[in-house]
Amino acid sequence: MLPPVFYAPPECREGETITLPGLEAKHAARVLRLERGAIIVIVDGLGNACRAELTAVSGKAVTARAHSEIREMGEPSVRFTLAAGLSTGMKFDSVVQRGTELGVSRFIPLLTEKSRVVIEDPARARTKLSRWRNVSIAAMKQCRRSRIPDVSAPTPFRRFLQQFDHADTGLIFHPGQDAVSLDNLKLAAGMKRLTLAVGPESGFDDEEVAAAVQAGFVCVSLGRRILRTETAGPVAVALVIAKLGEFR
Ligand code: SAH
Repeated sequence: MLPPVFYAPPECREGETITLPGLEAKHAARVLRLERGAIIVIVDGLGNACRAELTAVSGKAVTARAHSEIREMGEPSVRFTLAAGLSTGMKFDSVVQRGTELGVSRFIPLLTEKSRVVIEDPARARTKLSRWRNVSIAAMKQCRRSRIPDVSAPTPFRRFLQQFDHADTGLIFHPGQDAVSLDNLKLAAGMKRLTLAVGPESGFDDEEVAAAVQAGFVCVSLGRRILRTETAGPVAVALVIAKLGEFR
């Protein structure tokens, strides 16, 4: 069995000694009932992982000694950004969870023309953002990655296009005749960053698609069936990474 993964940010480490933070320590001691000598994997959320041996398990603290380092554990060679249109009742948690498992490094919740999402009061918006960040940490551990994906605050579609770096590859998913099928999509070898955009429940409007194409995005189709945003995002990522050979 693979050793369980724990998350301890860099400040928990001093030389070879790592002290697991509160909830992680509780999980190790009370849920998994690990004992001194058990082998675990610890990730710092910034791309560093190590195999470690538990040196103390008590009600007060759980400590481990790192003994082999693994750089960029589980991280894909391409940096994926997934931008997904928000709509009321849409489960962005699910996009973050599945996207993280598939290798997404950054999530951007999009406010689009047809989103119809009411801008909430700042306190509620902060709570939501911190929940999405917690989902990304849990998914990182579960899928044995070592970097916590970044989750941006909800971003208006135009601003998202302005922030898009022209040197990156951008794909906007939109059903219709003008879209390139995934089979015919050519992706440059050695590409470093790829941004995928999927619309909200009622889709992108034509002007948004035209503006994205103007900004350098390629309009791509996912075939004859229309997927919900929560499905379309992770499916788009999975199909593109399969095309890039990332599942090898
Ligand atoms: N009624 C909307 C569909 C929205 S589905 C419309 O006609 O545009 C939500 C989002 O998922 C879409 O905006 C698109 O980004 C993506 N999507 C779902 N199915 C797709 C398909 N077959 N091809 C391309 N994109 C798709």
